[in-house]
Amino acid sequence: VNRPEAVTAREEFESAAARWDEAGRPGDRLLRGWRLLALYCWSTSPGGKHDGMSPVLREFLRVSERVEGDDWLDQMLDGRDACARCGETYHIENLKVCTRCHATVCYRCAAAGPTAANGNPACRCGGELVG
Ligand SMILES: [Zn+2]
Ligand SMILES: [Zn+2]
Repeated sequence: VNRPEAVTAREEFESAAARWDEAGRPGDRLLRGWRLLALYCWSTSPGGKHDGMSPVLREFLRVSERVEGDDWLDQMLDGRDACARCGETYHIENLKVCTRCHATVCYRCAAAGPTAANGNPACRCGGELVG
């Protein structure tokens, strides 16, 4: 039985960070783009703060951000994208992103959906909607 909801966003991020650490911290295993945005937003989300982060995961985020450059976050948030549920277009800073499938969902649709165990809004795929 496929139960993707059995693995939380925290467990997925922690295992990516652990693999990076065990491999000798290579640059090609750092997060970029939407994956980095998802980790960054998760780390500042109520559910992420509730779950907490290991020192390796904090370092994984910090090094990934440094490699992307000072303005990576502004550049990403400056774009526009459509809500995957209702189709309305928003600035990315006003959308939430799924930690697993990276769908972008507006705050209204996120609030209308289910909630993950840590309190974050949940995506249909079992990921968490953060941002
Ligand atoms: Zn929507
Ligand atoms: Zn998802």
